Amino acid sequence: MSTKRALQAEIQQYRNAERLLLLGARVPIVMEMTRLSSWFLRKLSLEIRGEAPRKGQIPNSDQWYLRRQNNLEASLFCALYDGLKKHPETGMDECALLVAAYSQLRSAFEAAGTAAAMSIDRAWWLIKSLQIKTLRRARCRVCQGRYLQAWSRLERNFLCWDCRQQGYTVADGRAPRRVRREAHRES
Ligand SMILES: [Zn+2]
Repeated sequence: MSTKRALQAEIQQYRNAERLLLLGARVPIVMEMTRLSSWFLRKLSLEIRGEAPRKGQIPNSDQWYLRRQNNLEASLFCALYDGLKKHPETGMDECALLVAAYSQLRSAFEAAGTAAAMSIDRAWWLIKSLQIKTLRRARCRVCQGRYLQAWSRLERNFLCWDCRQQGYTVADGRAPRRVRREAHRES
């Protein structure tokens, strides 16, 4: 690597670290993503946020993502992440992708007057879980939306909550069908 490229890569790491910390990422996660020292990141965190970095456990469980509301949010994050990843011309590394997708998610929630339940730490763990294949994305047989599922509980005929609630059901090898009429028509 030429000196100029090495320098650019280093600057990029500092920039990534700053963005991650601004979004509330914990130091061990920023450390893993940027390879900058813990000592430096703690100082940077204090400088940027004006308070000592948060302590406590970093996410390490997939269960959180499988609850309905969290799953919807995490699935939306995956779609944003994929959308950005599909355009390699932006030249984003994994860290920049995480930052950009998470910022888009946060803006979408802010625009709707609410806050995202998923922290950037959980977004980081989500990408890891998809890479190490403890979580996967399954396509709903009815609405074609993609949702998170545990690899250990693969469903060939996956139906999302909303479609199930609307009375859809599906048997192996068959097209999904609706067994209940819409509730408001029954009255
Ligand atoms: Zn569906």
